[in-house]
Amino acid sequence: MPKKFATALDALQHVWGYPAFRGLQAQAIDHIAAGGDALVLMPTGGGKSLCYQIPALLRDGVGVVVSPLIALMQDQVAALRELGLRAAFLNSTLDAGQARDVQRAARAGELDLLYLAPERLLSDSGLALLAQCRIALFAIDEAHCVSQWGHDFRPEYGQLSVLRERWPDVPRVALTATADAPTRHEIVQRLLHDGAEFVSSFDRPNIRYRVVEKRDGRAQLLQFIRSEHAHDCGVVYCLSRTSVEEVAEMLSAHGLRALPYHAGLPAATRAAHLRRFLDEDGVIMVATIAFGMGIDKPDVRFVAHLDMPKSIEGYFQETGRAGRDGLPATAWMAYGLQDVVQQRRLIELSDADEAYKRLSTVKLDAMLAYAEAADCRRVRLLGYFGETGTPCGNCDNCLHPPQLIDATEAAQKLLSTIYRCRQASGMGFAASHLIDVLRGRRTDKTARHGHEQLSTFGIGADWSEADWRLLLRQLVAQRLVEVDAAHFNVLHLTAASRAVLKGTQRVLLKHREPQTARRRGSGGSASSGTRLVMQSLSSADAALFARLRDWRAATAREHGVPAYVVFPDATLQAIAIARPDSLDALRGISGVGDKKRDTYGAALLAVIAESAPAG
Ligand code: ADP
Ligand code: ZN
Repeated sequence: MPKKFATALDALQHVWGYPAFRGLQAQAIDHIAAGGDALVLMPTGGGKSLCYQIPALLRDGVGVVVSPLIALMQDQVAALRELGLRAAFLNSTLDAGQARDVQRAARAGELDLLYLAPERLLSDSGLALLAQCRIALFAIDEAHCVSQWGHDFRPEYGQLSVLRERWPDVPRVALTATADAPTRHEIVQRLLHDGAEFVSSFDRPNIRYRVVEKRDGRAQLLQFIRSEHAHDCGVVYCLSRTSVEEVAEMLSAHGLRALPYHAGLPAATRAAHLRRFLDEDGVIMVATIAFGMGIDKPDVRFVAHLDMPKSIEGYFQETGRAGRDGLPATAWMAYGLQDVVQQRRLIELSDADEAYKRLSTVKLDAMLAYAEAADCRRVRLLGYFGETGTPCGNCDNCLHPPQLIDATEAAQKLLSTIYRCRQASGMGFAASHLIDVLRGRRTDKTARHGHEQLSTFGIGADWSEADWRLLLRQLVAQRLVEVDAAHFNVLHLTAASRAVLKGTQRVLLKHREPQTARRRGSGGSASSGTRLVMQSLSSADAALFARLRDWRAATAREHGVPAYVVFPDATLQAIAIARPDSLDALRGISGVGDKKRDTYGAALLAVIAESAPAG
């Protein structure tokens, strides 16, 4: 069957209803449609899918999409069908009859796009099927899964080199949102060999980055969600399964719709929770990092980390799941000394080889530098991916610059206390005792060890315990102090400590008023998410937006698809503001393509007419 669209722009406007391409989309699409191989590297929400979907429409044959996530293929295909495209998937969830129908359609040239898991494609029957089809292109989604160093490594991805051997004339497109230089190199090596690279900026300007001092992490999380994202959809990441369950329970007990997700839950529970997260409005998923790859939900308004991730790649990818729709979103992380100690310990204890441990340490140190940063977080993040930028005005450090105070003298007091206690007792001590000594607090332990006689006893009485812990954390992050997690968290001096003690290295301490003490709403800077969105609509428009959302929820249930597949929030808002009064007027709304106008236009006009302002 001949393809229906003369140009890429034609397809964009009629199928998706978007007025124009973003960033590098147009260039990538032209290159691929003309038969070229390509690496497409764009942040989550950057619009990668169109880079293979449109060329598949422009070229003869079916676009074969390799995607590692069986659970999500169904939604991807449903979304394409809503747009009027002929899409299908082949995976283990289909029964034999359904699979036969899909195979027949593929052979007959009746599909625009076919989604397959890599193991299915590489099976004898998969390769045999493709040999009988006319193939427009191969798109390899989540291409970083080919990287052996990465946290999403999948051995089958390595075998995808077979595509080039068997179909040398069919263009291949590798797509990913994660790729530092080594990973990028590996993708090209294994999947493409040559081909153009389309690397767009990794900036996600609508995401506000925030890192808070962890005091009582869970209470801080609750406060954050309640005050800034009360009815919003979000993801909370925790390191362990136990804390996933506890935090989900805690949030639920406080009336939030929170669900746990980790690899230890029964598959059916996981699937049910994923379904609710995707289908319903305002669900919070509390999860380990096992959750999230390939989640296309565009209206995730916040991603919160209760534990620090082990690398910037991980952090960037996880936070990137917020705000795909381009509307304001928050990336929030609570971070404390324990995170540093724990992550270093995990590397130490892992049975990986030395090279891997060294690499992990470098990655962790970059993450720590980010968490400790006193300057623009976005500049730091982008810098990690090789981009330069200017302070963004949309991160905590830009909005509320921390004070930098010279803490060299205090650091010297702390370091000499560590030194003197060890010297006096022939053993090391953990932070709480050392801070007692610094602050001159008499305890059984200070008496027993004779530490009350030390010259440093009480020299730090002018600082609170919390201040000392803050300083200690920053010293540990900079490796000026070491915590021996294997031995009661005893503190040690390091080779680098000497320079501080001798006064040749200064220590700057970052200090910030606790975020919770700040008054919310001042200048609107503390609010984000749906509240901000709603605030920017007039009350009549907001009322219509709410009605449109109700209509969407009912329609999505009826069609058995997630709400965002019917229309994203951004489109409903545009409708609420523009109040189109005819099918023709709907044409100008971004996100309303031909098929959706045919399917939903009349219903939308009815909702708008019903809530027409009186007079
Ligand atoms: P990625 O796969 O890179 O994470 P998607 O392809 O899912 O991102 O796109 C993110 C969102 O942006 C989707 O809702 C998509 O429909 C929308 N989008 C993509 N390209 C455009 C465009 N040119 N104009 C408007 N919206 C777009
Ligand atoms: Zn900034």
